[in-house]
Amino acid sequence: MMTSKTILISGAGIAGPALAFWLKAGGFEPTLIERAPELRTAGYVIDFWGLGYDIAERMGLTADIHRLGYQARELRIVNGRGDRVAGFGTSVFRELTNGRYVTIARGELSRLLFESVSGRSEAIFGNEIAGLEESDDYVRVEFKHGPGRQFDLVIGADGLHSQVRRLEFGPQDRFEKQLGYAVAALEVEDYRPRDKDVYVIYGQPGRMLGRFALHQNRTLFLFVFATGGGPLPDTLDGQKRLLRTRYGDDRWECPRILDALDRARELYFDTVSQIRMPGWSRGRVALVGDAAFCVSLLAGQGSALAIISAYVLAGELVKAGGRHEEAFRQYEIFLRAFMESRQRGAKRFAGAFAPKTRWGLWVRNQMLNAFAIPGLATFAVGKDIIDSLHLPDYRWADL
Ligand SMILES: Cc1cc2nc3c(=O)[nH]c(=O)nc-3n(C[C@H](O)[C@H](O)[C@H](O)COP(=O)(O)OP(=O)(O)OC[C@H]3O[C@@H](n4cnc5c(N)ncnc54)[C@H](O)[C@@H]3O)c2cc1C
Repeated sequence: MMTSKTILISGAGIAGPALAFWLKAGGFEPTLIERAPELRTAGYVIDFWGLGYDIAERMGLTADIHRLGYQARELRIVNGRGDRVAGFGTSVFRELTNGRYVTIARGELSRLLFESVSGRSEAIFGNEIAGLEESDDYVRVEFKHGPGRQFDLVIGADGLHSQVRRLEFGPQDRFEKQLGYAVAALEVEDYRPRDKDVYVIYGQPGRMLGRFALHQNRTLFLFVFATGGGPLPDTLDGQKRLLRTRYGDDRWECPRILDALDRARELYFDTVSQIRMPGWSRGRVALVGDAAFCVSLLAGQGSALAIISAYVLAGELVKAGGRHEEAFRQYEIFLRAFMESRQRGAKRFAGAFAPKTRWGLWVRNQMLNAFAIPGLATFAVGKDIIDSLHLPDYRWADL
């Protein structure tokens, strides 16, 4: 007999639908609520491997993930003329993971996760939680639109700027640790050249601009640049202006990419931040994924970690027969040290992603070139690639 049954999940990104899937498999009744009017498909590509990949396999999704994904083969650093100055073959990642490594658009992964549970669980789009009031037996939830409802538990899977975290635990700046960079991602149609399956990266001190060819004649551009830590523009025009200021004097394909940016109607734009919280739950409310422990894009693994946290939280609720205090405690005991080690790894890597000096760029490039030496890449990144955690097996009633 489950003591908690109805569970509201805020956010249908990566962690949210994965959590809904596993809660359903455990006999709970999850409801997803997503602020966007429909699943968000634009954005950026992610590398996907490790325990998150293993869980996606248990969900029966890996064939589709590979079908929709990419097998990147090279990371290539270029100079202002577009000549290669450093880089390495990315097959090392596939070797380290026995081929269980894929690059996929974040939106595609989100869609596959959502489809694994849609039709079997309630999903509400274009609405969000406006207030939470907890009593001994339930949480009373007020929504931005429409009447309030009661749920046994509420889980925040609503990302770096989580609303559930803000309502239940306090303001963003109490938990957000900015890493000194901002990121923007832009998708463009018909761009040439394409360099299929190659990450092409142009770097100047304190900024980088990457290009990756997507399916259907689309190209993704990723800007990562150092910030002074002050507030960033929150309008599309302001964000475009800032990017033009930062990249306007740069060479390579920058002028053409900035022209494409001028025409864009959609741009992903955010700070590069981590979330560090003293605890991931309070009473009947808990957090998963970026909302709880965002590691930042520098970890290259946030989606997989979001899926791991969803799986473990659902599994612990099953194990505890729905007794949320026990489940939330075990969830955190099991994952906290692992997530913190991933956050430390990402922070160490920050300087290498967009070095702030010419000397730093040179050193980074020499390091990347050294990855071509057999065994060296395995030695250097093996620890960060192979997950040290052993995934628990839970008893799923409905799988
Ligand atoms: C440029 C970039 C590159 C990255 N590269 C990688 C990579 O290579 N590999 C990797 O594994 N990870 C990568 N990541 C990280 C990864 O994208 C995140 O860690 C992952 O998406 C976290 O999943 P999530 O479900 O916790 O949050 P999100 O994916 O952010 O989903 C949150 C969802 O909640 C919704 N939402 C927000 N507010 C509300 C609200 N108030 N009410 C309801 N819904 C709300 C949002 O619309 C969204 O759908 C990268 C991130 C960036 C920015």
